[in-house]
This record gives sequence, C-alpha cells and structure tokens, in this order.
Amino acid sequence: MKITFHGAVGGVTGSKHIISIKDKKILLECGLHQGFWKTVYKLNKELPFKANEIDAVVLSHAHVDHSGLLPKLVKEGFVGKIYTTEGTAEILEPLLLDSAHVQQEDFEYYSKLAIFDESIEVLEPLYDKSDVKRMLKFIVTKKREEKFRILDVANITFYNAGHILGSSQIQIEAEGKKIAFTGDLGSRNRKIIKDSVNIPSADVFITEATYGDRLHKRKLHTREDLAKVINDVHKRKGRLIIPSFALERSQELLYDLHRLYNQKKVPRIPVFVDSPLATDFTKIFGKHLNDFDEETHEFFVDRGQNPFSFRNLTHTKSVHESKKLNKYSKSCIIIAGSGMCEAGRVKHHLRHGLENERNTVLIVGYQAEYTLGRDLIEKKSEVKIFGDRVKVKAKIENIKGYSAHGDRDDLIANIEATKDVKKVVIVHADSKQAIGLKQKLIELNNALDVVIPGPGDEIEV
Ligand SMILES: [Zn+2]
Repeated sequence: MKITFHGAVGGVTGSKHIISIKDKKILLECGLHQGFWKTVYKLNKELPFKANEIDAVVLSHAHVDHSGLLPKLVKEGFVGKIYTTEGTAEILEPLLLDSAHVQQEDFEYYSKLAIFDESIEVLEPLYDKSDVKRMLKFIVTKKREEKFRILDVANITFYNAGHILGSSQIQIEAEGKKIAFTGDLGSRNRKIIKDSVNIPSADVFITEATYGDRLHKRKLHTREDLAKVINDVHKRKGRLIIPSFALERSQELLYDLHRLYNQKKVPRIPVFVDSPLATDFTKIFGKHLNDFDEETHEFFVDRGQNPFSFRNLTHTKSVHESKKLNKYSKSCIIIAGSGMCEAGRVKHHLRHGLENERNTVLIVGYQAEYTLGRDLIEKKSEVKIFGDRVKVKAKIENIKGYSAHGDRDDLIANIEATKDVKKVVIVHADSKQAIGLKQKLIELNNALDVVIPGPGDEIEV
C-alpha cells in the first residue's frame, strides 16, 4: 500500500491524498486550493492526477478546502463512488452549488470589464452547477463507527472528528495494515456538536496540524462577551453587524443568542440572518439531533426547543428584503456573510452601517491579510467598500474563541489515544506549525517516525 500526497502539503488548503492498494486508487479528499484566486487558479485548474484513474473517493467533511474540487473530478471523468457521512453529503449540495454560482458571477463580471480593458484576465469557472448536481449522484453515505468495504481492497470506518457537522476521522484497513486520517480535528468542547472520537489503532497516522504549534487560550466566556456587546449596542440604540461564515459559525451565534435569551441576559432585539446559505445550513443542522452534544440536548432538545429558532429571529431571503434592512431604524442584530467581509451581503450592511457611531461591528472569526475584515480589526479609520471611501465610526469588537480546529495538545492527545502508531505524517499546516508539532511529538516519543511530506511525495505502508 502506498500514500501519495498531492495537496494540503506545505499549506492548509487543497487537501488530496491518494492511497494506492494493488491496482486501485482511493482518493482521500478532493479539496480546492484557497487564497487569492489568480494565484491558486492554476493549481485548481489542473488536477495533479488523471480523474479517470481514481476508483473511489473517501471524504472527511464538507469544507471546500477538502471537497471543493469534487465537481471538477467528475467533470474530468471520475465515475466511482464518493463515500462520506449523511451530514457532510447534505452540506455539500448548497455549499458547492454556491461555489459554482460565485465562480460564474465572477466570470461574467470580469468578462464585461475585459471588453474595455484587455489587461484584465478572465478566469473561466472550474465547474458549473450541472457538474455539482452530477457529482452529488455519486455520493454514498455511511454511518460513523460502522466498518464498510470498498472496491474489494479496503475496509473503511468513520469516527467523529468534532470539527463541523458530519465531520469524520477515517480509518483505512488494507493488506494487514491500518492508516488513520484526521481530516480536520475539532477543538475540545465545541459548541453544539459532539466531541471527537479516537481511532482505535493505526500503523500510520496522518494528522492535520493547522494549529500544530499553538495552544488556544481556552476562552470559555464567548457567550458572556457577546452579551456585553449586545447590551452596549442596545444602550446606544444602534445596530450590531456580525460578519459570519455561513457554515457552523452562524449556527454557533444563533445557539449563543438563544441561550442568552433563555437566561434573560440580553434584550430581545430583532435578529436577522441575512444569508440564504446560512439559512440552508441552519435547516440541515436542525435535522441532525444525534450529532448534538449533551449541553445542546440539555438546554434545548430535552425542553422541546430548536436551538436555532427563537421568536425575534428572521431569515431574510430576497435581495429586496435584505435592502429593506437598511431602512430599519431600531436596534437590531444582523448576521451576514461573508466571514471576512470580502463578498456577500455583509458588505452592503457595512457600507451603510460603518459611518454611524451608534453601531457596532463584531468580528468573530479569523481575518486573513488584505481583507476588509482585517482592516476593521486593525482599527483603520477609513476603509474602501465598492470603490467608496467609508469612515469607520462604528465601534469594532472582536471575540476570539470560536475556533473549529484543535490546538497542539488536542492533536497530540488524538494521536496518543490511537494504539500501535509507528509513523506520523503531518499535513494541512504551514511549515512553522508542522515543524512545531513534529518537534513536540519527537520530544514525547523519540522512537516515533514523523514525516512532513512535500507535494507529490510518497510513502510505503
Ligand atoms: Zn475543515
């Protein structure tokens, strides 16, 4: 058996690893490279292997850096099965249809600009909605902790990864050897979803290491911090704008808001989720009660309540409804995408809301360099939105502690709980994080073989 690493090596996006067993090739993940689109476009346009040589895909979770090139794989001739959990399969549909839609919109926008300016490079969409729909037909869903056989060469078992809804760690057994793969590992005590389950045993352990050299400050007060921000904006009769990722973060915010209302810690000002994608994902969450942790059951499900639904909440659908929010004069909360303020409806809310000192913008996620969200947390006095200079008079708040990835100690505890591990392969990390985790693992057990592969590297198992 052989593993070839094609993506999420030397970086955190574009996850793709091929496990070759006899004459069969199993692809673990088929992720999109993310970043500045022009820079990563070529990496996404040309798959590092022939799509029709892949016999099956096994997918850990829905995030696009793990799943975003599945429609392209199908477009280029893959006709096998894609194995994943039900939760992941349900999320993939709205997620990848949206990805195809955004690519098409960008293509049309830049095509128009290029008529007047030849220097503008127009990048074609990697796939369209029909490719996504065709890909969805190849999906076969499996339950966690129930072993299944694929291609008559390997046994596969999913274990909860505690990262996002549906996420799994994967154990692959073939030729008397076992491989463990984290996908992405969640941090302990995440909101809503259950914590991860360790893979019982493996010879080779492939681990992500997004935070391989970092320890999260265990911030247990995110809900209290959120209450403070809401009470403050209510006193100032302003609106609270929260840029948020549609998946997971939006549901966590709704969960926290609902807890705060039940505890009567904040006034029941209207809440608007102004993101059709977040609304779709929230509906999917509501169907997966078995994935909820004890706390979510205790505070909501056991009391007959839906954690993501309360009486002062409205989901806006149409652009017209979204625009109407600009005229809303009372104190309110608006949750809208995108999470880094680079696209989506939140840009309109910021354009209208930033110049009013009664308002607050609350940042709850990581903000990459050169994004509008980063400008805001760096407290720039002026930002550019849709080409306009906008003065930042609103209060900018930042609550950390909503991280979806485990830290160094979570990653190590996850590996240590798996028996018989002789080799650890570190992927899905920048070099500082990968080297940090490698050093710590060797310090704890110098008999362990720890490898950080580069693009195209192979290891024999
Ligand atoms: Zn992920």
